[in-house]
Order: sequence, then structure tokens, then C-alpha cells
Amino acid sequence: MILEKLEQNPVIGDGGTIFELERRGYVSAGPFTPQAVLDHPDAVRQLQTDFARAGAEVLQACTYYAHEEKLKVVGLTSALKEINSQAVKIARQVADQYDALVAGNICNTWAYEPGNASTYAETRRQFDKQILYQSDQGVDFFIAETIEYLGEAEIALEAIRASGLPAMITLGFKKDDKTLEGIRLEESFKLLEDKGADIVGINCFRDPERILSLAERVRDAVSCFVATQPVAYRCSHERPYFQIQELNGKVAFPLELDPFVLTRKEMADYAIEARKIGVNYIGACCGAGPHHIRAMAEALGRTVPASEYSPQLELHTIIGDSSHIKEKDSQILCEQRYGKAHCHFMENSDE
Ligand SMILES: [Zn+2]
Repeated sequence: MILEKLEQNPVIGDGGTIFELERRGYVSAGPFTPQAVLDHPDAVRQLQTDFARAGAEVLQACTYYAHEEKLKVVGLTSALKEINSQAVKIARQVADQYDALVAGNICNTWAYEPGNASTYAETRRQFDKQILYQSDQGVDFFIAETIEYLGEAEIALEAIRASGLPAMITLGFKKDDKTLEGIRLEESFKLLEDKGADIVGINCFRDPERILSLAERVRDAVSCFVATQPVAYRCSHERPYFQIQELNGKVAFPLELDPFVLTRKEMADYAIEARKIGVNYIGACCGAGPHHIRAMAEALGRTVPASEYSPQLELHTIIGDSSHIKEKDSQILCEQRYGKAHCHFMENSDE
């Protein structure tokens, strides 16, 4: 159970599944919809395996933008149920193998308009459908993410609470510390906590530095669990969110963000800093790959499955020194690992 886990230790989340799938050729930049869960389930399964091996304790179902408003753009509204349930099935398989949890995932619908009450029911209807199709396949809790209107976040929270599962509500802040209605983050998160959110926090848009400065204020404003899921793209004081970074005088989002990718060391430092200020759910978002997550997990003192292949720079030919490694040692290691029958050695080695 997520809440018991958070009670004991910070929980490490996964990275930016949609952005990583896009880089790997399984999501189209533009619509950013996740039909790969139907067309290329193995690709999604592999990436989620990579995140789990890197130490992610929660796998988010790959259902970002799997709602009607977005699926109609790619002509796939009729696949709504299939996409949502298949995404959870994949995440569940991997999570069970690695003792991780599955978070159902809903996000901004683009159907919500503040002050226009007729859109509230439509927003709720879209959330309800996704939640129904996802929870059918077994999710441990729900994350609502990338929401910029407090009003839409409240609707997401009500919809999740109706499912009876724990609710993590994250808001995204671009320009400043207010929701798009103009409500300060302290009041916004306090309200969500009072209405029953179990975890509140900030996700996407901003890099770790610019999310943690806001997260400290969230930590002071609420007593429930706090989450951060920053992007792994460098932002700046003048350009606090990743969609407005410029490269060669042009907006770099979404196809030329490569020079902005943060190093694994910077993401590791983020994890340490997040723990220091009392963040309970230490996740990541767009741009964060498995190598970032492993560095974060190891920075928090954990040994994870992918630590098997963590750097051993002392063994690098140029920047390290492997001259002390003897043929005999490598024979022993090989035999221990793969058995004698699979290890063939050079007859004439001196040692
Ligand atoms: Zn993101």
C-alpha cells in the first residue's frame, strides 16, 4: 500500500514514460498519445521494466493523454477502454515482478474551462471513464497530474475518491506560484488536502531546482504527503519551465531539448535535496530516463536491480586502471556466474 510505504521512507517514482517512448520511436511528438500500449506493448513493458530495475517503486500506467479529448485528435476515441485497461495490465505485470506499485494516471483533459459549469460535468465524465477502465485491471492508487486549474484538480480528486483508492494530486506551475485561476499554491494544496487528497505535489514543466523551491512551501502548507516530479530538462530563472527554453533563437520544445537534459548527477542531487526538505514521493517527469532514476535511488542509499551494471570507472581503460585484473580472477568470476561449461579460457595466460 502506497500510504504505508510513504509512512516509512521516501518512495521513488518513475521517469517520463511518454517522452522516453517518443525518443525510442513509439509515441508521436505532437499528439503525445499512448496507443503504443496496444500497438507495441513490448516496448512499453521494456521501458517500465527498465524503470523498475532502476529503482522506481511506482510505475504509472502509460495513460497520459488517454482521454477522449486527446484520443479524438488521433481518431482513437473508440479505443479508450482498450488503451486504458491495457496500459494498466502492462504496468501490473512489471510491477508484480519487481514488487512495485501501480499508479493509475489521469491528467488535464483540455475539456475543463473555469467559470463554465457545463464543462465540469464533462471533465468529471472523462475522468470517471478512465478511472473505471484502469481500476478494473488493478491499480494501487491514482495520480492526477499536469493539472494547472485548481478547479480541474478538485474534479479529479472527487473522481478518484469515488473509486475508493488513495489520491495523489499534482499541479503544474509554469510562470509563477499560482494556479491558472490565480490561486496561490499554499491555498490550493491546503484545499486539496482538506478535500481528502492523500498526497499533493508538483509535477512536470519545471526542473528540480525550480520545483523544490515551490515544494518547500507546499511542505509547510500541508500535513499530508508531498510529491515532486520535475522534468529532467534544465530551466532558468528567466525561463522557469521547459516548454519555453530556446536553442539558436527558436523554441526547443519538443524536438530540440537534448542539450537541456540534466545529468544523472544533477538528478541524484535533486533526490537528496528533496528528501532533505521532506518530500515523500520523489519522482520525475518528462526527459527523465532509467539512468536518472537509478542515480536517484543510489543517491538515497539504495541498491537496485540495475545497480548490477552501475559505473565502475576504475575499470575503464583510459580513465581507470584495470591492470591489476588477472586472467585467473576473471576465470573464477565467470565460473561463479555462468558455470564452468560456459567459460572458455585462454590456455597460455601466465596467471
Ligand atoms: Zn512531464
